[in-house]
Amino acid sequence: MIIDVSQILKSFGESKELSGSIELGEKKASGAAPVFTSLDFCGTVTNIGGPLELKLNVSGKYDVLCSRCAKEIQESFADSFSEILVSTEAEDITDRDDAVIFSGNTVDLTEIIMSNVLLSLPSTFLCKEDCKGLCPKCGTDLNEKSCDCIDDVDPRWEALKNFVIRDSE
Ligand SMILES: [Zn+2]
Ligand SMILES: [Zn+2]
Repeated sequence: MIIDVSQILKSFGESKELSGSIELGEKKASGAAPVFTSLDFCGTVTNIGGPLELKLNVSGKYDVLCSRCAKEIQESFADSFSEILVSTEAEDITDRDDAVIFSGNTVDLTEIIMSNVLLSLPSTFLCKEDCKGLCPKCGTDLNEKSCDCIDDVDPRWEALKNFVIRDSE
């Protein structure tokens, strides 16, 4: 989504309300990367004396595969962030390496929102907190049933079976 900031650029303190939805493709979750099914935002962009300050609340839903058992799951999220936007025509452009640079009178919100949202998401996704995952040997979904491999314990770990942690009383 491209927004026109020409009016805001004209005077200090000028502000504009923003709200809308990001257009999303019809994609299915197929790998580790989340696929967004909805992404809404609202906030403001304000002229703070040259640069613009963008403040946004973003919320949405995404499909992703569980990092352990690869089951498709739906997750939702809500986040807020702010960014400083600097025009390529600004003189002090090199002083601001953390700012988002834009040229002309338009700012691409989609790009800014997507990069912030991706940073705020967790790096692993679980269908449930205690997902047991798939057996690394036979691929059985250990949430649904157990397999014979489970008893196939490495002899080096065998000793741990008899190991009991005692309360220090
Ligand atoms: Zn899972
Ligand atoms: Zn197995």
